Amino acid sequence: MNLHEFQAKELFESYDLPVSKRGLIRKLSDVDNAIASIDFSNGCVAKVQAHTGGRGKVGGVKLCKNKEEIENFVSSWLGKNIITNQTDEVGLPVNIVSIDELTDIDSELYMSLIVDRADKCVSMIVSKAGGMNIEEVAETNPEKILKLKFKHNVQVSEQDINELSSKLDFNSNQTEQFKKIVKNTHKLFVEKDLSLLEINPLVITSSGELHCLDAKINVDENALYRQEEILGQRDPSQEDQREYEAKQHDLSYVSLDGNIGCMVNGAGLAMGTMDTIKLYDGEPANFLDVGGTATKERVGEAFKLILSDKNVKGILVNIFGGIVRCDLIAEGIIGAINEIDVNVPIVVRLQGNMSDEGKILLNNSGLNVIGEDSLMKASQKIVELVK
Ligand code: GDP
Ligand code: MN
Repeated sequence: MNLHEFQAKELFESYDLPVSKRGLIRKLSDVDNAIASIDFSNGCVAKVQAHTGGRGKVGGVKLCKNKEEIENFVSSWLGKNIITNQTDEVGLPVNIVSIDELTDIDSELYMSLIVDRADKCVSMIVSKAGGMNIEEVAETNPEKILKLKFKHNVQVSEQDINELSSKLDFNSNQTEQFKKIVKNTHKLFVEKDLSLLEINPLVITSSGELHCLDAKINVDENALYRQEEILGQRDPSQEDQREYEAKQHDLSYVSLDGNIGCMVNGAGLAMGTMDTIKLYDGEPANFLDVGGTATKERVGEAFKLILSDKNVKGILVNIFGGIVRCDLIAEGIIGAINEIDVNVPIVVRLQGNMSDEGKILLNNSGLNVIGEDSLMKASQKIVELVK
């Protein structure tokens, strides 16, 4: 789960990390209060709040000298979508603008912490070449990207930070500040179950201080049960609506670009199903695992979810009944088709527990559902039908 920049900065503040003071604007009439809540003597930087980076490149971050410039920025963004190189072509809705106290920048660095699955540790990535083109730097000058790995429950060693600081050309004052930033981001990362914490740019100000100008936080979804406060900050408007719906029903769903909706039980089988669709030159519209304990209700929800994607031109249901009973799945399918208007072809493969009973139910339902026993044939069939 992602947080907005302003929410991440609030967390940063509570971990004593240096961020700019800010005021929030949700409607034009909030501008006066927002200005009054910060030191506006040097102007401010107005920033669109949306779950994406790359805002600077599309005018979503702007230095404003006076109230009028802020109002123009706010009117031009509130209620619109921001489209960046990190969003899809629809973009994300802008409902909040933050105005941050202005920082004079000497240089921009990059810093992040991520969960390093391969080495079962936390990886810190730092670069002197921070700012808006960090992705390019990683590709063209990978030697400019420095890494430090540490155990999640062990303090980072002074020596490691000293070495890194000298590579980053920090003076002694900056090295001390950097130590504090590493220590506190690490603490935040572990205590709040983050999977990503990114500061881009981490800047050196004109007076030589380290300061976090941007803040991005991603929280591990699997830990949200124990991060109630963070969960309360979820902003559904920034999430894929179908993926959000799916979460509410405990379905594991990822939307994709193709036109064949997939409903499968088990992540491995779902991957295999997507592979066979591709083998026959089809494109899956989604990954969907209804789980090993799929109930009739959840299958119904899953079906509605798939059909809410207007790109879907056909559906492949592939269920292997182990614990789950195929006849219940069949009832779920029939129930869903009867409830919603389905006008795309559906191919169903049921195998295993009570599959014969399931097939009979589907055959007798009078619905236009095509049964196939083999996965290869079922995939081939649905690809043919959507063409
Ligand atoms: P992003 O493009 O979505 O990652 O948004 P950022 O928060 O990183 O802002 C983009 C760029 O705006 C930064 O790389 C800075 O160059 C610039 N910027 C942001 N805040 C300030 C500020 O307080 N002062 C100055 N001078 N530039 C800023
Ligand atoms: Mn940034």
